[in-house]
Amino acid sequence: MEQGLFSVFQRRAQQAPDAPFLILPDLSIITYADALARSGQMANLFRNSGVQVGDRVAVQVEKSADALITYLAAMRIGAVYLPLNTAYTAAELRFFLSDAAPVLFIHRPEDEAVMADLCRDLNIAARLTLGAAGEGSLPAGANVQPVEAEVYPAALEELAAILYTSGTTGRSKGAMLTHGNLASNSATLADYWRFDEKDVLLHALPIFHTHGLFVATNITITAGSAIILCPKFDVRELVRLLPRASVLMGVPTFYSRLLGEADFTRDLVAHMRLFVSGSAPLSAETHKEFSARTGHAILERYGMTETNMNTSNPYEGERVPGSVGFPLPGVELRITHPETGEELPQGEVGLIEVRGPNVFKGYWQLPEKTAEELRANGFFITGDMGVVDARGYVSIVGRAKDLIICGGFNVYPAEVEALIDAIPGIAESAVIGVPHKDMGEGVVAVVQARDPELDEAKVLAALSGQLARFKQPRRVIFLPELPRNTMGKIQKKALREAYADLLAG
Ligand code: ATP
Ligand code: MG
Repeated sequence: MEQGLFSVFQRRAQQAPDAPFLILPDLSIITYADALARSGQMANLFRNSGVQVGDRVAVQVEKSADALITYLAAMRIGAVYLPLNTAYTAAELRFFLSDAAPVLFIHRPEDEAVMADLCRDLNIAARLTLGAAGEGSLPAGANVQPVEAEVYPAALEELAAILYTSGTTGRSKGAMLTHGNLASNSATLADYWRFDEKDVLLHALPIFHTHGLFVATNITITAGSAIILCPKFDVRELVRLLPRASVLMGVPTFYSRLLGEADFTRDLVAHMRLFVSGSAPLSAETHKEFSARTGHAILERYGMTETNMNTSNPYEGERVPGSVGFPLPGVELRITHPETGEELPQGEVGLIEVRGPNVFKGYWQLPEKTAEELRANGFFITGDMGVVDARGYVSIVGRAKDLIICGGFNVYPAEVEALIDAIPGIAESAVIGVPHKDMGEGVVAVVQARDPELDEAKVLAALSGQLARFKQPRRVIFLPELPRNTMGKIQKKALREAYADLLAG
């Protein structure tokens, strides 16, 4: 039988106790055996705080070794892990904590006064503080005996975590993920991407999101690899640590920033085995430039909070720029008509739906939302629009909510963005629809330019003749930087709000 990830971790620690699990920026090492022991101490502290099987443990702390160990500790005692974005303010936290009703909340020591009030208001029984990155200390009072080894979960259908979605398209929803979801997806990925004990994953992603927490950590545990844990993304740190790594997992910004570094050279990464990108679209330009500079084709993959990973470009075989590759083994993917829900033939654009052991159990306390998005036959309606080509490669053309309907015709932002991004001097672009006085919606391009000489007229001239009239941007707005969240996702909702009156007439 498949096992939960904590059992996998425990077995690794018993078989290869001295193998490195975490390598800190100062190059000190936490072995699998060390991490297992610390998870036991931490778990005991959770138990002493009243946490029982099935209880939620909410965590909002800076990234550090012990922050990651809170995840292992929660799994160790069958608690439901609930990581929260470090950027959330007290007001936002109030929503998440009252929604999820944790028994224990672990937060930063500097937030003490505010969090004490908040927890009192929300009747959260226990609080612990965990220091900032680098301190490497267990929460105060953690110097206790580890809990006895018990095997959780009792069943793989039990909840391992509630992970809130990024809130790109609306209010964040808590996705309920089971131990089976996590274990099956990481086993598939470790195999698909050929991870083993020799791999060292350079980890500069946040650990409150599916990418850094589940994809990166779970694969590492599954394969018995090591993680170099960078507290946050800093391109200079990446350049310093890349020589010690074999794999880098990042969001597209990592790659565009690396390309901007003078000492990011072919030699620096000649030894690397794999570069992976996800969480947001990797532009074909960045993909090609990276290949030309380093000889490595970035492997782009596609996933989400609700499903972990859905698709990946092949390990061997062509990694196609602009495509997210093939459905992973065990994952079924189909394209359906957004209105009728009927399955569409290959080559047509529609909603991406996925089914498989990776698909979550539903949204926490949102049964109606769950029923809307999770079909009775097990297919999850992702909300992303995509297309499958004749060879089976999947491409994402944008989110259904970002689809622009101009005079009754569909405009997929990704098509227009790809053309704009190819204009010399453009760093990146976001194409949005805003209310238009007689077309319903009109296309607006928001761009960040590298070349200060570029202006609206030049961009429009470069696009002329390349797009049907209804797809052409009516305005081009220049911004010093596009608004993004911590995962590098462009915040189109904010842009639509900012330019809502632009074409209203
Ligand atoms: P919310 O669901 O709250 O609106 P969100 O969908 O951004 O937020 P996440 O689960 O963090 O929350 O992100 C998943 C989404 O990220 C996918 O649905 C998809 O739109 C996007 N995504 C992930 N990987 C890729 C990729 N390689 N290319 C394009 N988009 C991607
Ligand atoms: Mg989503």
